[in-house]
Amino acid sequence: MPHTPGAMPPIEPYRVKVVESIPDPTPEEREAALVRAGYNLFNLRSGEVRIDLLTDSGTGAMSDRQWAALMVGDESYAGSRNFFAFEETVREITGFPHILPTHQGRAAENLLFSALCRPGTVVPNNMHFDTTRAHVMHNGSRAVNLAIPEAYRTQDPHPFKGNMDVAALEELLAREPSGTVPLVLMTITNNTGGGQPVSLANLREVSGVARRHSVPLYLDMCRWAENAFFIREREPGMSGRSVAEIGREIFSLAEGATMSAKKDGLVNIGGFVATRNPELFDRMRETLILFEGFPTYGGLARRDLEAVAVGLREAMDLSYLQHRVGQVRYLAELLDARGVPFLRPPGGHGLYLDVHRFLPHLPAESLPGQALVVELYREGAVRTVEIGSIMFGDGPDPATSSDRPPLELVRLAIPRRVYSSSQLAYVAEVVSRVFERRGQIRGFRMVHRPERLPHFTARFAPIDGFG
Ligand SMILES: *Cc1c(COP(=O)(O)O)cnc(C)c1O
Repeated sequence: MPHTPGAMPPIEPYRVKVVESIPDPTPEEREAALVRAGYNLFNLRSGEVRIDLLTDSGTGAMSDRQWAALMVGDESYAGSRNFFAFEETVREITGFPHILPTHQGRAAENLLFSALCRPGTVVPNNMHFDTTRAHVMHNGSRAVNLAIPEAYRTQDPHPFKGNMDVAALEELLAREPSGTVPLVLMTITNNTGGGQPVSLANLREVSGVARRHSVPLYLDMCRWAENAFFIREREPGMSGRSVAEIGREIFSLAEGATMSAKKDGLVNIGGFVATRNPELFDRMRETLILFEGFPTYGGLARRDLEAVAVGLREAMDLSYLQHRVGQVRYLAELLDARGVPFLRPPGGHGLYLDVHRFLPHLPAESLPGQALVVELYREGAVRTVEIGSIMFGDGPDPATSSDRPPLELVRLAIPRRVYSSSQLAYVAEVVSRVFERRGQIRGFRMVHRPERLPHFTARFAPIDGFG
């Protein structure tokens, strides 16, 4: 799908009102930064990065309406009107009656999993994301990934690679003694597997299987609006429905959800957990007060809740979603024209480079994903992230980790409403230049491995020679 010459680049459905300068470090400055950072790009200072595609989490630009919402902040400790605006919005979108705000997604995960998981339990998911898996394991549960086989084939064009293997779920629920599976999770979209959507048909089936086994289904709904947009585009009979309508059906299939509002809430900080289960809600609320704060603010300034309420609605706007998904596709087209291998089809929030096809001469032990991340920074000060054996490599307890080797990917996450098409064209040029000299790229080894969520604080060193 090469980008057709003369075709329109995706036009931003907004115009710029405030600008922020971006740095342009010299090659020498980049090299020094890499050494200081132990070759872990999480250790860079933002002033050393030109285009930051590390994550789309909390890195978006708020709209003028969201900034205005901050000004109607009511900073009452209890009963702030901002909480009620937030609660009403989440209820209207999801239909879940009981809602607790949290400072971000993993705090919501902590509330849910500490209430439901115990040592010896098993949590199936299409694919756990890093913090989700870590929280499941932290509570002694085993995190099992049950995505369809197509999800593991990077060149397979399946339109819903986020789908769960329903037969495998059925088999797991039949095999495990009753009470061992406290919940079934579905991550929409599947971040670990390339920002790939789950179909409504698959959600209906998974919900049915879970219900037959009396196990509640929860959604990791961080990118639910992007997922609904893909359903509208790709699933038969869905093109006439709005994102909100599709969302209502998605949420009707689940007992509750965790949300990082730093994704499809279009804010820089915030999240929530929602449920239909009043008894579970009471337990989570007690933990919330212990760790996050009173239930009408949950670790946030009250004004932040007002910005979430506005952002959740803006994320459902079709022209916004078309442009957002269009930006990822545009980057994919530019890279495809240069022969750069990436996970297909392009995802909702980022493009994922296919590391084994990009660097076939580097074996998995030499951390090819890390090598690629370092080269992209070296070439053009573009910051990206490895999503592979470093992020998901077995921790200290293999018994509690996933049972399938992870995909080896480098994610170019696109922040929401931040970068222009010409900045993406710059990124495509940087990636293509690295691809052209790929044969000279050398591997890395980890010299400091933390026990949990190693990718955030690990340190690396280049391997001498090839390998
Ligand atoms: C970001 C993310 C989380 C965690 O949310 P934070 O706000 O970063 O704590 C959980 N699941 C998925 C799929 C995510 O993308």
